[in-house]
Amino acid sequence: MMKLFLTSLLVFACSVASALPRTDAVPGGVMVLPLDIQSDQRPEVLFRDVPTPVVRDESGAWKAVIGIPLSLTAGQHAAQIVDGKDKIALNFVIEDKAYKTQRLTIKNKRKVEPNQEDLDRIWKEKKRKTAAKNTWREAIPDFDFIIPVEGITSSPFGLRRYFNNKPRRPHSGLDIAAAKGTPIRAPADATVVLVDDFFFSGNVIYLDHGQGVITYYAHMSEHKVKEGQQVAKGDVIGLVGMTGRVTGPHLHWGVYLNRTPVNPLLFLAEKTNN
Ligand code: ZN
Repeated sequence: MMKLFLTSLLVFACSVASALPRTDAVPGGVMVLPLDIQSDQRPEVLFRDVPTPVVRDESGAWKAVIGIPLSLTAGQHAAQIVDGKDKIALNFVIEDKAYKTQRLTIKNKRKVEPNQEDLDRIWKEKKRKTAAKNTWREAIPDFDFIIPVEGITSSPFGLRRYFNNKPRRPHSGLDIAAAKGTPIRAPADATVVLVDDFFFSGNVIYLDHGQGVITYYAHMSEHKVKEGQQVAKGDVIGLVGMTGRVTGPHLHWGVYLNRTPVNPLLFLAEKTNN
């Protein structure tokens, strides 16, 4: 009896997330939704056919942590709880958010209008990036992130962007300006899934924190880890640099849930959203 009790206590303790991101019901935000499900088995939740993280909170209740795409329109949306062959709708409402516009001038014109050789390289890199973002590992993610670099926010998440007056995709991460060579730290325990040098992003690293929670680091001067390596919260993974398409030394930090970039500030304590 005692052994059974201890075993279930252990199972419970192992599936509890230490903290959850803040809900921000807007495009580019995060929805943390309680699931009315009493099960020891982790329920599966899909949003737009992609599995989302599902963890227990401190009271033991299951919660889905859903990344909201920047392209999603305001209004009612639904995730699905998969219950055998049935799917139960999990409805939620998102509000509109007007992100600011940013205009940047890039001196290296090829980084804005790549030639054919560059485009071939970019296409191959895109496939590698997609594969990294699609990684799924059955580990409980630690959402209680530390900031990877202390510095000044030079570009917030979600900006609508123009490079040399040409419209480009919105800013899918948070830019933290810091001196070249400043150490970049893992925000939480993770496995390194990708280390490479990319055309736009320069030296990059993707970290897998479990259940599709992926973080991304770009423009580094140096990598300090290798693919497949385990890192602990606070470990140095690379150094701030200005490789790829940049206007100055900074870290571009991305956070992905269900393959969707979301505002990294929602994972940090005592920070205001912007
Ligand atoms: Zn950036």
